[in-house]
Amino acid sequence: MRAKHLLNLVGDRLHTLPLIVLYLTDGCNSRCVTCDIWRSPRRNMDMALVESIARECAALQVRWVLLSGGEAMQHPHWPEIARRFREQGVYTMLLTNGLLLKRQIDSLPGSVDEVIISLDAATAETYAAIRGVDAFDLVIDGIRAVRAHDIPVITRTTIQPANFRQLPEIVSVAREAGVNRVSFLTVDVSNPFAFGPRFTADTAIPLVNGLSPSRVGQSLSESDVAELRSIIDRMAVEFAADFASGLIAESPAKLHRMADYFAALIGQGDFPPVRCNAPHISTVIEVDGTLRPCYFLPAFGQLRPDDAAPALQQSLNLPAALALRQAYRSGARPECERCVCPLHKGPRSLLRM
Ligand code: SF4
Ligand code: SF4
Repeated sequence: MRAKHLLNLVGDRLHTLPLIVLYLTDGCNSRCVTCDIWRSPRRNMDMALVESIARECAALQVRWVLLSGGEAMQHPHWPEIARRFREQGVYTMLLTNGLLLKRQIDSLPGSVDEVIISLDAATAETYAAIRGVDAFDLVIDGIRAVRAHDIPVITRTTIQPANFRQLPEIVSVAREAGVNRVSFLTVDVSNPFAFGPRFTADTAIPLVNGLSPSRVGQSLSESDVAELRSIIDRMAVEFAADFASGLIAESPAKLHRMADYFAALIGQGDFPPVRCNAPHISTVIEVDGTLRPCYFLPAFGQLRPDDAAPALQQSLNLPAALALRQAYRSGARPECERCVCPLHKGPRSLLRM
């Protein structure tokens, strides 16, 4: 049965949907300086829409669901939603800023297979400067609470000017809190969709040179990039065991490619090559049913709560969806060049699990 996933890799039609990313809610209780989502009024995904998506999981052979937002844990029914997907045999991941983990810890066991938590700092001061809320200790306590239930935790750190000097300390803090993996990505400075205002029509936050105002000034300077490179070199030695064990998800070489990205942002060299087939193995479903091929590319369709199945299955291969897949695959989408979150799964990983 899993072999059907491989058909996705030989054309632009989707025959299965290995991964669904669900934006359960807009709005967020964080106030991140690199994000506009929290500025918007909250919308929660309609439970009828959730149910219609869950009903199609078997036919689409969905294997992973990532519950995201906004802050997914602010959806009033997120545990019920998570369990609905687990009932379908889907590996269910919760992506959270961690602010509600401690308070809602009893909702996690039995609801999620894995928790991915944003950890952008190693100190309370830097955390507050980046995330706009004073909650570093709360998040660390939340991580410990999740680990106490033996649920795997991955931390994700968005590297940016305010925290790149803390990368080694972030690894140490996460390790001490008992996480299973520490992962890094670079801050996105240019895409209007992923962290942009979700109600573009009603909020109309003006862009500055094509960038969201909150992301202007998030590039590293030339000397910052050099310092980042020397930090990575030092980590390669001091954290050799953590790279080797997989505690740090990215290799030193991959971290250096992140430094290359920052260098390219200031005109020093090319952006590092991106390897991605996200639109061929996944789709993003926004809170109102808007469908995207990935976090960064434009919408290609729309699900509605009252749609009859197989609405998702049919929407995946609408002409607009096929055109977007063909475009990114042939290198015609400019978003891909600066993408900070590519996803690639080859045949072996699609067949595994
Ligand atoms: S980046 Fe994530 S945690 Fe931060 S405000 Fe935006 S949605 Fe919330
Ligand atoms: S590289 Fe990024 S923008 Fe391009 S298809 Fe992949 S996830 Fe989307």
